Amino acid sequence: MFSYFTGLGRRPVLVIALLAIVCLAVVGAVLSVDWSVKRRAVTPPEEEDFTFLCDKCSAVFTRLRKELPARFMEDRMAGDAAPIDCPRCGAKAAAYIPHRCPSCGKYYLTDACRDPLTPSEGPESDRCPHCGTVPYEWYLKHRR
Ligand SMILES: [Zn+2]
Ligand SMILES: [Zn+2]
Repeated sequence: MFSYFTGLGRRPVLVIALLAIVCLAVVGAVLSVDWSVKRRAVTPPEEEDFTFLCDKCSAVFTRLRKELPARFMEDRMAGDAAPIDCPRCGAKAAAYIPHRCPSCGKYYLTDACRDPLTPSEGPESDRCPHCGTVPYEWYLKHRR
């Protein structure tokens, strides 16, 4: 009699333990899926892409970080423009990372693109050659 009751008494504990394990497994699976989705959403650094504009032929093209010369990021960090070769016209070290006009979305080069260490001559030097927008003024107008 006594053992029968303890037997009954033990079963729910087992069931609860089993349920807990199942729950943990489900939560774990959900979390790991969630985690992998999040991980996929964040672009790994080597997949980061950079847009370039050729100073010679105006070709616009993108390169993944892993496709760029090893020194590229170092040079950029050091304040160098780090121009790369143009795949269209073949000009050596002629493609720079351009400005993108906030108004018309076109790419263009300024002296600051060609040499980031050049002292800026004010917002006017960043004027978009396509539509005449000065990004600094545009942001002032459109930022709340
Ligand atoms: Zn070119
Ligand atoms: Zn523009």
